[in-house]
Amino acid sequence: MVIECKHVWNHISGYLDGTLTAEEQVMIQTHLEHCEICSAILDSARNILVLTADDRVFELPVGFSERLHARLAAELGTVAGDTPPSPM
Ligand SMILES: [Zn+2]
Repeated sequence: MVIECKHVWNHISGYLDGTLTAEEQVMIQTHLEHCEICSAILDSARNILVLTADDRVFELPVGFSERLHARLAAELGTVAGDTPPSPM
């Protein structure tokens, strides 16, 4: 089964936390093996977890998630089908 990057992004925290079902875990793992974008996101998310695990309070800036997703949507632009085309 093929899943979209968006699906991976929605589940990435669960993937790192190990709270996904076995099926979801496998689908995302498989996607990550051939998707550089999602692999990079996973690395970033993992780095954030390392920071938060270090007994430090660490809050994401407001809007971080939205900006990340917007950036990703722009990167994927021509590939992903559900981002409205730029008016440019
Ligand atoms: Zn992907």
